[in-house]
Amino acid sequence: MNHYLLLTPGPLTTSETVRQAMLKDWCTWDDDYNVGVVQKIRAELVSLATTSPHYSSVLMQGSGTASVESVLGSAILPSDKILIINNGAYGKRMAEICQVLKLNHHVLNFKETQAPDLELIEQTITQDKEITHLAMVHCETTTGMLNPLVDVAQMCQRLDIRFILDAMSSFGGIEMDIGDLGIDFMISSANKCIQGVPGFGFVIGRKQSLERCRGNASSLSLDLYDQWHTMETANGKWRFTSPTHVVRAFAQALTELKQEGGVAARQERYRENQSRLVKGMLKLGFEPLLSSTMHSPIITSFYSPAASDYDFKRFYEGLKQLGFVIYPGKVSDADCFRIGNIGEVYPADIDRLLAAIEETIYWEKLPVTA
Ligand SMILES: *Cc1c(COP(=O)(O)O)cnc(C)c1O
Repeated sequence: MNHYLLLTPGPLTTSETVRQAMLKDWCTWDDDYNVGVVQKIRAELVSLATTSPHYSSVLMQGSGTASVESVLGSAILPSDKILIINNGAYGKRMAEICQVLKLNHHVLNFKETQAPDLELIEQTITQDKEITHLAMVHCETTTGMLNPLVDVAQMCQRLDIRFILDAMSSFGGIEMDIGDLGIDFMISSANKCIQGVPGFGFVIGRKQSLERCRGNASSLSLDLYDQWHTMETANGKWRFTSPTHVVRAFAQALTELKQEGGVAARQERYRENQSRLVKGMLKLGFEPLLSSTMHSPIITSFYSPAASDYDFKRFYEGLKQLGFVIYPGKVSDADCFRIGNIGEVYPADIDRLLAAIEETIYWEKLPVTA
């Protein structure tokens, strides 16, 4: 049994059955694993992402960032230039990857509480003829903001720009068809909305775009093409040791996503969690960082209590004793904390959380408003 509920954006609270799936050892060489587990996962991921037959999936060892790095480091040829949209820590991370890998890139910076400016993006692309790619985060987990996916996707299609989407914290929890959106690479990981445990990420890419990566990676272990090609030609084989227990847990998590009713049903549960949370928090006097039109159903940032002796750690510990773990803030210019709505978390848990928050601010004597 879990000691407390994780209200974090991943690793998150998983089901008992997902955790139980890790109690068996698997041989990476055996068909039971490669054909029975890995290939099934790869096909299911593609069918969750799109109805288009032009896509394929690659699983990649490491945390989600390794998958982002494998895409950027493999897809951007020396003759390419990528535009990075940055309005939070994860947009910034993509810019850092480009810097470290010395990729030809340009960064458009926006405020963390501001939606990216579509006009400015379009202007930048039309003025800089070198730009061939654009990368954006879907749900910026820093704040919980949902970036304008459809608008940017349509713009990329219209301007003939290849589109890379970091949908790490939204894929499986927010409906989308990456084929309709013309996305070249969509990146996510095991421990977010699919509700698995951490250990690998995955990329769902247009086959033509994956082919184009051939021979371009500057890293051996993060070579996206090579990993894909091996999985395709050797029936689900990973080039190097794969996180077998984690992969098996992920297969179970995918089964449970189906049992819940698919992405639409999961999105509805997250949305209900989020709206219940915001309603309850407003009643307690807390104020969300973003206006409600910008919110994702994934995670919500709240301003910290105004009490002069407020201390996140004390608030955190108080809630932890009552069985809930929340997340510190990550916004650079506002004092916040975050509460995640994803994982094996239900509206009744949110109600219990709200009662625990009320109790904590009472005992800790933390007036929420000044
Ligand atoms: C979680 C997350 C990542 C990856 O983070 P890791 O710590 O490497 O797993 C990337 N982008 C977004 C938007 C995320 O939420």
